[in-house]
Amino acid sequence: MDFLHFNVARCDLCGQCIHNCPFQALRMEEKGIAVSEACRMCGVCVRCCPQKAISFEQKAGTVDKKAWKDFLIYVEQELGDIHPVAC
Ligand code: SF4
Ligand code: SF4
Repeated sequence: MDFLHFNVARCDLCGQCIHNCPFQALRMEEKGIAVSEACRMCGVCVRCCPQKAISFEQKAGTVDKKAWKDFLIYVEQELGDIHPVAC
């Protein structure tokens, strides 16, 4: 997966990103955290990392947002709380 970057100098291998990923896309490997094709780019791991060790690689301006239209947004909620993927 090329879009997520893990800063190994910051990561202390706490495992919170693995625990919080709603798609079970992260696993601990010998060299650190690895991400699989199951990743949906939801950003939950980026937001939950206490060391700010995870970032998106996508550069600003590389996506033409003018082409984004006619979307139906469906947001899952549980007991009044929006699922973190939608935030
Ligand atoms: S949450 Fe951050 S510091 Fe913890 S294992 Fe994941 S990347 Fe490393
Ligand atoms: S971006 Fe979302 S789906 Fe991808 S690894 Fe992080 S928490 Fe999991």
